[in-house]
Amino acid sequence: MSDIAVAHAPAFPGGTILGYPRIGRMRELKKAIESFWKGVTSAEELEAAAKDLRLATYARLAELGLGKGDASIPSNFSFYDHMLDAAVTFGAIPARFEGLRAADGSLDLAGYSTLARGQGDDAPLEMTKWFDSNYHYLVPEIGPETTFALSSTRWVDQFAEAKIAGYLTRPVITGPLTFLYLAKASDEAGEDYRPIDRLGDLIPVYVELLAAFKAAGATWVQIDEPILVADIDADRSEVLANAATVYQALSSATDRPAIFVAAPYNDLGDALPVLVESGVEAVSLDLVRGSVPSGVNLSGVTVVAGVVDGHNIWRTDLDQALRTADAVAALGGAVAISSSTSLLHVPHTLAGEEHLGSELLSWLAFADEKVAEVVTLATARAEGEEAVADALAATREALAARAAHPGTHRAEVREALAAVTPEDLDRPAYSVRAAAQDARFGLPELATTTIGSFPQTPEIRRARAAWAKGNLSDADYENAMKDEIAQVVRLQEDLGLDVLVHGEAERNDMVQYFAELLDGFDVTVNGWVQSYGSRCTRPSILWGDVARPEPMTVRWAQYAQSLTDKPMKGMLTGPVTILAWSFVRDDQPLGDTASQVALALREEIADLEAAGIGIIQVDEPALRELLPLKKADQPAYLEWSVNSFRLATSGAKDDTQVHTHLCYSEFGEIIDAIDGLNADVTSIEAARSRMEVLPAIKNHGYERQIGPGVWDIHSPRVPSTQEVTELLALAKESIPGKQLWVNPDCGLKTRGYDETIASLRHMMAATQAVRSA
Ligand code: GLN
Ligand code: ZN
Repeated sequence: MSDIAVAHAPAFPGGTILGYPRIGRMRELKKAIESFWKGVTSAEELEAAAKDLRLATYARLAELGLGKGDASIPSNFSFYDHMLDAAVTFGAIPARFEGLRAADGSLDLAGYSTLARGQGDDAPLEMTKWFDSNYHYLVPEIGPETTFALSSTRWVDQFAEAKIAGYLTRPVITGPLTFLYLAKASDEAGEDYRPIDRLGDLIPVYVELLAAFKAAGATWVQIDEPILVADIDADRSEVLANAATVYQALSSATDRPAIFVAAPYNDLGDALPVLVESGVEAVSLDLVRGSVPSGVNLSGVTVVAGVVDGHNIWRTDLDQALRTADAVAALGGAVAISSSTSLLHVPHTLAGEEHLGSELLSWLAFADEKVAEVVTLATARAEGEEAVADALAATREALAARAAHPGTHRAEVREALAAVTPEDLDRPAYSVRAAAQDARFGLPELATTTIGSFPQTPEIRRARAAWAKGNLSDADYENAMKDEIAQVVRLQEDLGLDVLVHGEAERNDMVQYFAELLDGFDVTVNGWVQSYGSRCTRPSILWGDVARPEPMTVRWAQYAQSLTDKPMKGMLTGPVTILAWSFVRDDQPLGDTASQVALALREEIADLEAAGIGIIQVDEPALRELLPLKKADQPAYLEWSVNSFRLATSGAKDDTQVHTHLCYSEFGEIIDAIDGLNADVTSIEAARSRMEVLPAIKNHGYERQIGPGVWDIHSPRVPSTQEVTELLALAKESIPGKQLWVNPDCGLKTRGYDETIASLRHMMAATQAVRSA
């Protein structure tokens, strides 16, 4: 351990958060960056708006009780994404974008945006999920051509800007292990190239960056290393050895602020002693997802105890948090209070959500309320619990009210669940179902369909907004949606699709639509959370027992079916996805909540069948997203998630064709689970990866039907007939035509009509060509 560094370390603040939402309370950053992209505002105006937002954030955090002068306020701003910022800071710009850099290696805001959004034929950096959250980061590309060099002064400039304004903040940066392990090999790199092998080249750049922070006056820097809590492909002993190398090197740098390594989202496990012994001054523990470690001596470091859930929106049990902090203190180190993760994953504030009612509000804490909780807990530790007696009493009262609320324990819901038997999760053998479905629908080989949504046009959005404001009557809104559905049905008939959809015009969102119709949920008006870049979602709040007061989708499906002789697919969102994209109650196992949602969907499917709908799709695009970070936790998750899908769908009659849709291509790793869903037809994303996953499915042995996407709907690009024909030929190499469906990668709600019609036309032409070949 480098004792020089420890001896000179300033005290860590008593309370802090690992990061704060970046998008702005009124989504100021979204608006500023999108208007810059549109060319409405200049780069200078965007810079000014971003600076205003940063300073307003520091002011807000200080007002909530974080110290202005002790590094307790994190500065974690990003224009788009923190992984992109790291790539830009360290000079890891893909070769295709080299030309965007200035002579000194830096990128301006236009160039930065291009890495995120692509330009012409130059694809943007790939985007993927950040750990087990619904945040998406951009994947750095590293190859032998990458020359690491400190190429941006933004991080240091932002620290200096705060300091001038009177805030001694704690810069938050992505750590070298997380950066390199999450990066992918560039196109220029060979097959076996591993970005992590460049660690030795990257460390000196971090050392240089630390010196720059120090020179600017920083006392603490936060280095985020969530990769250390996840089980990844790399050998654990290699990860630990790399962790030791990096943090010994960084902590023995002479010219640096004190180092705080934050590792949110789960337990650090055997990485904790490695960090403690490396010589860094502080380490965080996620004590919401993880638990208090045992058998480690933490006396050499400050332990930043993540006892306030940064990943969910429930009010913290302050008594329990204090006991947890005590247990951590018993391991020897100094203890500070913190959120378990960055507050990036929760909305800014409960202010403005009074419509939720005072009871529900009193159970919740968004970012600002969580900061207040941290401050309360830190005060309790510094001054004794008497100092915060009122806050402790109010919390106890709210938590007791939540536990006793009749909506959280509804007898009829509990009884229905208790009555579920193993047979309820099973349908007859696939061969029996396939024969019944063939007889009913007589679909051709390479049957064609879409994933559900058609473009959400400005007219649809306007009608919904007017209806929400009370400027459009229920009847007029209903008619507007019906007109839209009729057009979508006519279009699909003209195109010659085999299985039609109604287009989901009436859905504001595939989860919120159901949340608004089910008991046990509430929705916010301004509870936006950054999903990626300027995109935000507004997760619903699943607070109670779930029940379905009345059918949710039947009348729309029935109306659409009345317009055509072709089969009309009923569209539902699956239980796991409803959970993944909501804030879910934390007072019972997730699997129990999933089963409640599944039972509601099971009733809906029975009603759809009774209304004559014979093909029903239950979307589970988030199935992989909730996969636990630790391998040991994965089997239990896969069991309850698969069972919830089966509980929802297994009541279907033999001649009802159950479809599911999964939104990603890396599904080789959970292929058994996908098989376990037991859907008759599964559509997946496959166009971008050029059917990469199909050989694995073939080798696995897959008897049911599959629709690998042939059109990448994430870009406005229209695939040619030739391209789709090639993809279908490729698909047929692995999957027999009888089992193969033809469909786009995903829903079309974000696309425009021109590209949709052209692309579907090409898809149909290619299908004809392959069928008659
Ligand atoms: N049915 C949904 C749609 O088409 C599925 C969306 C998704 O997979 N994310 O929009
Ligand atoms: Zn999808």
